[in-house]
Amino acid sequence: MKVAAYVKTSLVDFPENIASVIFTQGCNMNCPYCHNKDLCTMKDMVDNQDIISHLAKRAGTIQGVVISGGEPTLQPRLKDNCRKIKSMGFKVKLDTNGTNPRIIKELIKEDLVDYIAMDVKAPPQKYRDLCGLDFRDVEESFNIIKSFKNHEFRTTFYPLLDASDIKDIVDMTGTKNYYLQQYRPISDDSPPSYESESVRDLCRDLKIKYRGI
Ligand code: SF4
Repeated sequence: MKVAAYVKTSLVDFPENIASVIFTQGCNMNCPYCHNKDLCTMKDMVDNQDIISHLAKRAGTIQGVVISGGEPTLQPRLKDNCRKIKSMGFKVKLDTNGTNPRIIKELIKEDLVDYIAMDVKAPPQKYRDLCGLDFRDVEESFNIIKSFKNHEFRTTFYPLLDASDIKDIVDMTGTKNYYLQQYRPISDDSPPSYESESVRDLCRDLKIKYRGI
């Protein structure tokens, strides 16, 4: 598996678990707010064996491993790595953009994943404008993940989106497993984020949770 970065300990990436986070290399979307673009193109990889050795040493402290990206389902050895990590006693969380329903289906069927977080980039009518792909490219994954017991959907509140777009998304996802994430500009040329107060108000009105404010 091509791993561009590895965070040894995180308290915020896997709900209710102390986790290590693996960032795989490469992505098939092109989101304007991506903070991981460097990871998507970098050539120096983290040795998979170093990760396994670290996890073996931290068993008992680390409870789970988050496989994030980039887009992890582009990695041909994703399932093998999930299997290995699970066999060591860790839970696995997958972060995905939802473009590979076949792999997601297999991970669930083979009990290789414990929690799945999928980005819902925009309502269907704005999907391509935001990330370069259509909602129909992720719709099958969306439906699979929605019926998986431990899941979340999340949206980064990029200014291309407005309150009515978030309402449209919540109508699809429901409120229980949904998070609205504050957008953070990535450069001086990036559009400014919405005021925190207005994001909080929107979340209160829609009865949804938020992160990053
Ligand atoms: S899907 Fe994620 S990793 Fe890929 S471009 Fe968008 S924000 Fe970046």
